[in-house]
Parts: sequence; C-alpha cells; structure tokens
Amino acid sequence: MKKFLSVLLAVLLTVTCLPLTALAAETDSEETLIVAGDNAEIFGVAWHGTLYTNTMTKGEDGKYTKSYTTDKAYAVVQLKAVKNDTEWIGDDKGNNVAFAVTGPGTFTVSYDPETNIVTVSGENVGEAVFNYTDVYAVGNGEGNWLNGVSWTPDAEANKMNEVEKDVWEITFEGVPDGFERQIKFAIDGAWNYNFGAPKEDAPVIESGVTYDAAWDGGNITFDTANLCNVKAQLDLRDFDFVNKTGAKYTITIANYVCLHTHTRTVPGRAPTCTKAGLSDSKYCTSCGEMIMAQEELPALGHHPIIDHETEATCQHEGHTLGVYCDRCGEVYVPMEIIPKVPHTVVKDEAVAPTCDTAGKTEGSHCSMCGAIIVEQQVIPALGHHYVYVPAKEATYMHTGHTEGVQCDKCEKWLIATEETPLKPVDFMIGDVTGDELLTVEDITAVQRMLSEFLTADLTDEKTFLQYDFNGDGKINIKDVTAMQRKLAELE
Ligand SMILES: [Zn+2]
Ligand SMILES: [Zn+2]
Ligand SMILES: [Zn+2]
Ligand SMILES: [Zn+2]
Repeated sequence: MKKFLSVLLAVLLTVTCLPLTALAAETDSEETLIVAGDNAEIFGVAWHGTLYTNTMTKGEDGKYTKSYTTDKAYAVVQLKAVKNDTEWIGDDKGNNVAFAVTGPGTFTVSYDPETNIVTVSGENVGEAVFNYTDVYAVGNGEGNWLNGVSWTPDAEANKMNEVEKDVWEITFEGVPDGFERQIKFAIDGAWNYNFGAPKEDAPVIESGVTYDAAWDGGNITFDTANLCNVKAQLDLRDFDFVNKTGAKYTITIANYVCLHTHTRTVPGRAPTCTKAGLSDSKYCTSCGEMIMAQEELPALGHHPIIDHETEATCQHEGHTLGVYCDRCGEVYVPMEIIPKVPHTVVKDEAVAPTCDTAGKTEGSHCSMCGAIIVEQQVIPALGHHYVYVPAKEATYMHTGHTEGVQCDKCEKWLIATEETPLKPVDFMIGDVTGDELLTVEDITAVQRMLSEFLTADLTDEKTFLQYDFNGDGKINIKDVTAMQRKLAELE
C-alpha cells in the first residue's frame, strides 16, 4: 500500500502540474514526517504512517510541527511521528507519546531532529491516565494451558481475576509437560495495550520470581515439566503510564492439585410447611470431590394469618373472621361470605316543566353508595303560547297602551306593550253647563246634582271631571265651596 501511494504520488507530480514538481524537488532533500495516532477522529485513520493529511511542517528553527484542533476531550491519545515512511519515532524512551486531551482546543505535535524526540504541547494537553477494566492472559494455548485458547486477546476463559486493586491473576490447572509455553497480558481484551517480557534480554523464567513487565513487550516463555498448575500474575500497582514502567509479572509453577475450579451444582428441594427439603449440593467435575454436601432442611411449619371480619355494604360482600396459612393455604377457620345489604332508597322528587325550563320525572337513588335505582327522565320544556294583545286608547282618567304579544301561560312578553299617556284635558273644569264660562249656573247645576236632581251622566269621564272641581276624585259640597271661592276671585 505504501509503495503504491508513493508511485501514485510520483505519477501525479510528473503528469499534473509544474509547481508541484518544483516543490517535490525542493522537499527531496528534506525528511518527510507524518503523525500517526490511535484516534481516527483526530488523525483520520488510526495508526496510519503515510497519511499525507498528517504531514508535519518544518519551521525556521528546523523543528517539525503539526497542530490538531478537537471539539472535545479524550482520556488518552497516543501517537508517534513516522520519518520517511519507515522510522517510527516516539518519546525519549521510544514509546508512544501518550497524553490526555482535556477539552476543546488545539494541540501541537513537535519533532526535534536534533534530539529525535516527539513531544506534544497545548492548552488542552494533560497527563494521560491509564484507565482500564480487564486483563486477559494470551498465548499459545493448548490443552489445559490457557484453556486451549491460542492468541486470542479477549477469550472469556482467560479473563484474569483482580485479587487486589491492580493485581491480576489466573491459574491453569493440570498443564502437562511442554516446551515454550508463551504468554502475554492484553488490557481490555485488545492488543492496543499489552504487557510482556522485555524484547531484548528477556529473563529465563523461574517459578515464583517477579520480573519487570515490558509495555508492548515480547512473549514470556518458559517450559513445564510434569503435570502442574501454572499461575500467572500481572501487578500494575506501580505502573507509570507516562514512562510505561513499573508493571511486574510472576509465573508460578506448582505440582498439580485440583483447585475445584469447574463445579456443578445439584439443585435441592425447598422445604414446605409440613415437609422437609434438601439444600443444593456442589461437586468438582474435574476430580469429583464433593464441595458442598446436601443437607436436610427442616419443614417450615405453618404461618397462620388471621383475616378479620369485614362488614357487608350495599356494594361489597363482607366476610366473617377466617384463619389460614399464607404459605400453603391450609384453612383453620373458614370464612363465610356475608351477602351485600340492600340499597337505602331515597325518592328524587319530580319537577314540573315550564314554558322555557325542562322538568324531571320522579326517580330514586341509594343514599349510601349513590347508585341510581330509578333514573329521572327529562320532561322537555312546554314552550310558550303567545297571544295578540290589542292596543288600548288612553282616556282623560286612564292611560292606554300600544299593541303587544304575550304568553298566556307565563305572561312573558314576546313584544311588550308600551303605556300611552292620559288624554289631555281640553275643556274647562267646573263648566258643567257647557257655555265655556264658570258661572253661578254651573254652581247651581252641581248643587242640584248633589240634591239628587240628577241631570248629569257621571260615568262619562269629561262630565265627572267637570263636576269634580277640586280634583279629589269625589263630587260633594267641597266642590261647590271651591267653585264659589273661585267665582268670588274672578269677580
Ligand atoms: Zn477438583
Ligand atoms: Zn402452611
Ligand atoms: Zn347503595
Ligand atoms: Zn309562557
């Protein structure tokens, strides 16, 4: 792939345009440095040593740099710089440069040709923290060695046990004679982070001796003689993630004893109120030894519950007191059902309908529970019965009214009448003779009428008003006196 890209680049440079050819000629004498890192979000592709978008730029001070801007934090970022497609350069120990990106911002990768060291700087560059959850033993598994799993970094069978914080162990039982047993330790079921023996000057393993584990190291190799148990331990308590030092491992080879790792549980039987039960038992499927014997579990005895009496209502049945076992259901005192009581019936009065409001038929309900026994039916409103009221003309003594329309049942007006005023008096009060003058003859006529020489029709309003000189609604001697006084005033 790398060769293909180089050829492609060469073809592009010669065929496409001249300035690029000039640039190529100029950079020929320079080194090519490309950043390769573990994070595809930042570097485009993880651990890609020839991705031109990660090419570093040479500054006037002779150092090469490349900046990256991220919009979030990363717990660990690892990278190296790749010189001329071949040489992978890391920190002062040659390890990956590992750091934390603490938040959004820009960090710069620098390579100094004088020291041949890659460094990272920036406001969002922090110390990398080695966060992990699991460790797996990986190697040339065969038979009982590594549970027969060969070079698989995430085999569940070879997941190690954390016996104390950051100390991981696994034991393989019954490993037979063998040469070149190989083992490494893979973090979180992947090869990204792993520990092994130093690649140069790896020690000759002695059982039970602790050695320094190398970051991304080589295989830990040893031989086994006779049937044995092999315990592998990785101790990360003093591991320094920045310098990749402080990890230790120990391989302990012991004579075979069955550790009863593989067991089978034989389920027991739960006891009941009256019958005894049996506990679970467990035996080792490798050697057959009983690890947990079956035991008899005594009968539990009954657990009586008193169910107190409840009263019946018109809605619910009640029951008498009962006693039973809530585990097996055995009844000591049977309950008797008390039937529901009848409803307490209350009459709902009928309501008569009117012209414009609806009525109701008689009904009934229960005053205890509210249940309706006889539903009240709606009687629709009757509707008005309008009749014509003719106009009435006003007289001297009585007001009149305009014509109207009214309901003859409830007296509601559809078109209300309006009162018309009294007819104005257009004649002289006291002029009972009709000569348009108040004279002695008029007084005499009134006196004659009072002496029962009745000559006037007093049912006629005009006549009555003429005789009732003082306007008190009565015709008597007071009217005569008033007329005489008036006449005296006039003379
Ligand atoms: Zn066993
Ligand atoms: Zn019971
Ligand atoms: Zn009721
Ligand atoms: Zn009406």
